[in-house]
Amino acid sequence: MGTTAPPYSIPDVADADGPRSPPARELRVRRAGRRRQILAMIAGCYLTDAIILFIYAQAGTVPTTIAPSYAAIGVLTVALWTVLSESGFNDRFHDHYLVVPQSIVSMMMTVAFCYIAPEVSIVFLCTLYLVVGFSSLRATPRQTAICWTFLALGLAGLFLLTDKPLGMPTGSPLERLATLLVFVLTIAGCMFLGIFSSALRETLYQRGQKLKEAYRRIEELAELDELTGALNRRSIMHVLEEELARARQAGRPCSVVLIDLDWFKRINDEHGHPTGDDVLRTFAITMFANIRGSDRFGRYGGEEFLLVLPGAPQDPACRLAERLRQIIAELDWSAFSTGLQVTFSAGVATARGDETTESLLSRADRALYESKAQGRNRVTRA
Ligand code: GH3
Ligand code: MG
Ligand code: MG
Repeated sequence: MGTTAPPYSIPDVADADGPRSPPARELRVRRAGRRRQILAMIAGCYLTDAIILFIYAQAGTVPTTIAPSYAAIGVLTVALWTVLSESGFNDRFHDHYLVVPQSIVSMMMTVAFCYIAPEVSIVFLCTLYLVVGFSSLRATPRQTAICWTFLALGLAGLFLLTDKPLGMPTGSPLERLATLLVFVLTIAGCMFLGIFSSALRETLYQRGQKLKEAYRRIEELAELDELTGALNRRSIMHVLEEELARARQAGRPCSVVLIDLDWFKRINDEHGHPTGDDVLRTFAITMFANIRGSDRFGRYGGEEFLLVLPGAPQDPACRLAERLRQIIAELDWSAFSTGLQVTFSAGVATARGDETTESLLSRADRALYESKAQGRNRVTRA
């Protein structure tokens, strides 16, 4: 029964009123496909109305010319929209369904038929409900206001400027059947609109959820080092800044362990770069398995890592670093490559008073250098 462009698809992102640059080819093809579907439905609606008008003609309510004229005008209109759509004209507009022009043409045509065949105006008035319903699903408030104004003016002309009796024929069984069809089909159309808009809401909700999830994942990826899954340098530095500020405020200790894998260049050279990567990954996993949930571990550079231990005074921090050193040194690395051995050297520093991150890291770095100078595979306190 309806004769407008129903919005059977989720509006495309970044739509805005008025002409704009043409969208990508793939999007254009997808949109043209959707428009084709909609135009086919509109043609179907015209033909359904024409069948009802034909029944009224059989009942003698309207002249037999009404049904074919209505069908012909409807099909011609759809043909015009189809030509425009297929030629890519619609893609020049943000509103590529051309909701406003299509709705106005449908409305005017429907009102005109009320005038031409007032005996069966119930057919056309019911159709108007669907035209308005479909167009407002896709239209912006401004577009809806434009359509409503046109419709109100058209109806005002019909009701106030003419004295045509607008009919709902129920005189004969055939007329009652046709009128019944008008109502039943209009109600079905309204129900379809309702179902469609719930489906639209559901799809939008699902998309929103997916976007949230993607955003969360992006944030997570932006924080983590790709190879090891440890925090990346930017994040671990940020964590350190935050933890130091917190420790200062709460007057509690905070320690850092700066770790550098020993002879890592040699590991790469002798066992291959992929094995080097495996070592970095396994090292990180082992570290995670042996620190507390509140400890933060990040990749500071190539084979350098930083462990931030909130609340840890120097002695426990050194004991933890020493325990980790032993665990790594005692791991059976030969599973990765025959003869492979991995150790690290570390420097431990505990924040003093209102020490800055630079100063704390510089002391940890000097302690690390000391560990290297002393022969590696050891922990030195700053
Ligand atoms: P030192 O005991 O003095 O620390 O010696 P080193 O060989 O570990 O130190 P150096 O800084 O000379 O070498 C670090 C090596 O780590 C060089 C670099 O190729 C390697 N490296 C850095 N990032 C990666 C990585 O992501 N994967 C692999 N496989 N190797 C890396
Ligand atoms: Mg290094
Ligand atoms: Mg090294």
